[in-house]
Amino acid sequence: MEASSRAGRQGLPYRSLRDYLRAEFGAPLQRLCLDAGFTCPNRDGSKAVGGCTFCDVAGSGASHIEETLGVRRQVQHQVALSEKRHGRSRYIAYLQAFTNTYGPIDRLRAVYDAAVSHPDVAVLSVGTRADCVDGSVCDLLAEFNRRVEVWLELGLQSVNQATLDRVNRAETPDDFRLACRMSRCRGLRVVAHLIVGLPGDTPADCLRAVDLLNEEGVWGVKIHNLYIDSRAPMAAEWEAGGIPTMTQEEYVACVCDMLERLHPETVIHRLTGQAPRAFHLAPLWALNKGAVLEAITAEMRRRGSAQGCRFRPSNQSSGRV
Ligand code: SF4
Repeated sequence: MEASSRAGRQGLPYRSLRDYLRAEFGAPLQRLCLDAGFTCPNRDGSKAVGGCTFCDVAGSGASHIEETLGVRRQVQHQVALSEKRHGRSRYIAYLQAFTNTYGPIDRLRAVYDAAVSHPDVAVLSVGTRADCVDGSVCDLLAEFNRRVEVWLELGLQSVNQATLDRVNRAETPDDFRLACRMSRCRGLRVVAHLIVGLPGDTPADCLRAVDLLNEEGVWGVKIHNLYIDSRAPMAAEWEAGGIPTMTQEEYVACVCDMLERLHPETVIHRLTGQAPRAFHLAPLWALNKGAVLEAITAEMRRRGSAQGCRFRPSNQSSGRV
């Protein structure tokens, strides 16, 4: 298939974020991990309490972020550190922790404005829940999309409602579909997050999730293995023996199946995951990110396959950004 040979010619058997950034911006961009001090409706009681059981107390954010610094100062501080290490660069301003569209529009505008305040910021990436995206949020992000490239990062995690309920996600795949449609018609790039190996999910569920991403014209994807963070509620269930984790071989096989089925143009932002080393309980193989990535590439090459080689357009497919 033409698409699969295109992916193969680029060196990796999938369309990596690094390749996308080089083609689009001429060089890799550095990521600024920002914390605007938002909370999450799955923690404050408006949807649920306790949060998703896989989520750590930092809201799946980077624990090193100094959230007491304002966003503008966080940007300045991290740009200065990055320039010392890498020289002058361009940046992705990444609002990662908790739910970064969960607040009044005026506050969101001020936060996004601060995040793109440095002239070398080229991308604004906003992590959130699909049920916290509505027309006014999309309109605001579309405004920013005229200043810098905007990525809207939505956690789907699983397409299986029973699994979402089991991990206390308090959200549905239809929430995700709706948010994708509102975003796409305004030209926003959606990055979906999927977790492979959630309790109750099967490899077939992971393939169904890929089909949903294809149908909704999702622009990018972050896939990672389930890992157990000692600060997350799931840690107690894992310690009691209630959460099996995948072997590396099982994970690699599942991810390769997913990549083969994924639209060939979807940008792959991530294929592994781990907690900070001090909090990472399982699986231990996930701590060696390089080895996992190499194993995925080796397996794709062994199969003679590439991203999109089993992609089939469906009648439900929507347009792509
Ligand atoms: S994963 Fe996201 S939605 Fe779930 S509790 Fe953490 S911040 Fe909230």
